[in-house]
Amino acid sequence: MFINKMIFSAKHNSGFLCTAIILLIFITGCGNRSQSHSGGSKSKDTLSASQAVQGINIEKVSKAKFTAVGSVRIALPKDAGPVLKNISALFVRQVQQRCKAKVAEDLDAALTVELAIEPGIGAEGFRIEDGKAGTIRIIGNDERGTLYGIGKFLRTSRYDQGGFTAGTWRGTSVPEKPVRGIYLATHFHNFYESAPVAEVQQYVEDLALWGYNALLVWYPMNIFSGFDDPVAVEYRDRLHAILNVARAIGLDAAYGEIANGGYSTSPDSIRAVKCINHGAQFEVDVCPSKPGGTEYVLKNAAKLLQEFADVKPKYYFIWPYDNGGCNCEKCQPWGTNGFLRMARLMAEQQRKFNPESRTILGTWLFSPTEWLEINKMFSVQPPEWVDYMMNEWLNDRTTPVGSPGGFPALSFPEITMLAWQPWGGYGATPLPERYQAEWRNRSRSLSGGFPYSEGIYDDINKVMFAQFYWQPDRSAADILKEYISFEYSPDVVDDITRAVGILERNHKRDEIQRSAEEAFLLIQKSEEKMTLQAQLAWRWRILALRALIDQEIFRTTPPPVFKQVNSRGRYTATIYRGEALSQAFTELSVIYHAEKTDREDVNEVWMLPPKVLIGNRKTP
Ligand SMILES: [Zn+2]
Repeated sequence: MFINKMIFSAKHNSGFLCTAIILLIFITGCGNRSQSHSGGSKSKDTLSASQAVQGINIEKVSKAKFTAVGSVRIALPKDAGPVLKNISALFVRQVQQRCKAKVAEDLDAALTVELAIEPGIGAEGFRIEDGKAGTIRIIGNDERGTLYGIGKFLRTSRYDQGGFTAGTWRGTSVPEKPVRGIYLATHFHNFYESAPVAEVQQYVEDLALWGYNALLVWYPMNIFSGFDDPVAVEYRDRLHAILNVARAIGLDAAYGEIANGGYSTSPDSIRAVKCINHGAQFEVDVCPSKPGGTEYVLKNAAKLLQEFADVKPKYYFIWPYDNGGCNCEKCQPWGTNGFLRMARLMAEQQRKFNPESRTILGTWLFSPTEWLEINKMFSVQPPEWVDYMMNEWLNDRTTPVGSPGGFPALSFPEITMLAWQPWGGYGATPLPERYQAEWRNRSRSLSGGFPYSEGIYDDINKVMFAQFYWQPDRSAADILKEYISFEYSPDVVDDITRAVGILERNHKRDEIQRSAEEAFLLIQKSEEKMTLQAQLAWRWRILALRALIDQEIFRTTPPPVFKQVNSRGRYTATIYRGEALSQAFTELSVIYHAEKTDREDVNEVWMLPPKVLIGNRKTP
């Protein structure tokens, strides 16, 4: 999972661009659909958006004056459990890495931030209010509410006035969509797989502050020789480390499986017949109709259920295609035949291990016929073993018929690969206007979703969806302003908003306009107003490098680019000229921890920034 080699990779260059254009064309409306959960197990968290607690968002500004302070006392309730203590520690880290102020429980400080839990605000919601003189109270409806309240408080505070200056935002905020997940793909030697695990853990905590409440990971069975392969064991340890940090601050764990995946050693006798036009398929994928095929898949799935039982996954994904699928006579059409047979068995098996866990059935890369057919099947008899459907809008564009069986629908937005090769190779990829348009068309039909990410370069896009799920009518522009104020400085909001707009319009690499020079100037001018901590943070470096790279590419005419291929004709790099670009791409590689990434690998090549020719050398 998902989108492994995907529709793009392993293809030639024009394939990538074509798909990107298709994605651009098909931002189509899919109407306002109401959903009622008509079958299966009903519980609060499976309610659709329209049935969920309505988000409340009441904002006001504090009259209390707070000036910059050098120390902050954090006060926890006497009965604070480990989750609240971890959330408090996250607040301490965030403040101390942004300014010189000290934060601790036992300080005699001019400012006290008091954490409290008071049910009644609304599930996962929070309230920020003034307490007695010199005290600000962050009150969560529950532990998660406190986490999100701290996030809001951090984002509306300042770090550049000689210490910590408490924000003046006061009010109540409750999320509207119940499922606000993020999928971090840990593969291809991308950041999530290659960075020191502590960096990934911090990143998960940072994302949670924006409102995410579930973390999804996947175990790429196909690259291991078996469950006991030492590489697989190490890999599972890493997944545990990442999921554990999410759970430590109160988030839910989620993991997914291909309905017919296999290890690299899957027996030839049970291998699948390739499906055409359904994304990646590995030769190790398994046919459940062959003798022993179903048992092989279920046995492997059971071992993983046992392995991850300790993180109590709240959601269990079952995925049809890309990779996956079998086109043999007995399995086809996979999406509505072999896949559903297999998915039912996997769902029933997982409920034995984790009765509280919810099954999410994917329909990724279903054909239009399969999509119509599953709608028909589920409207006659919604299966007991499904709790949610993951219907990306690639489905909706063909037949806007809502969610099969009326199950609550989750999205799987693509925020990470659009139109670039390599994906994060030119720095930050903010696309707020694009995702605003996409969201406007879909927001009412969803109970939430899990955006799909390959790296930290799409950070701004992740934040967009975290806040869209929280408050569906909040504008992308407003979210962006809050991001800029927090990560860069409240004093650069207008200039960086303008710069991001330019970067978005110049997103396509062969259509960069003269405005790239203005964006670079805006970035330079803004940097002077920022603290040293903000200037050195990776979130600034990837944005500043992006502006620099765009300007350099624009200024060198004709564009100095060519594609490098290996002896088998496979893409291995995009090549530019110039020292400035060379340094920029090198710095990005360091930020992404791309040292181990292999240009000759058909998948990993998408993770590497372009190469640069220096001087007159003909080859890099
Ligand atoms: Zn088959």
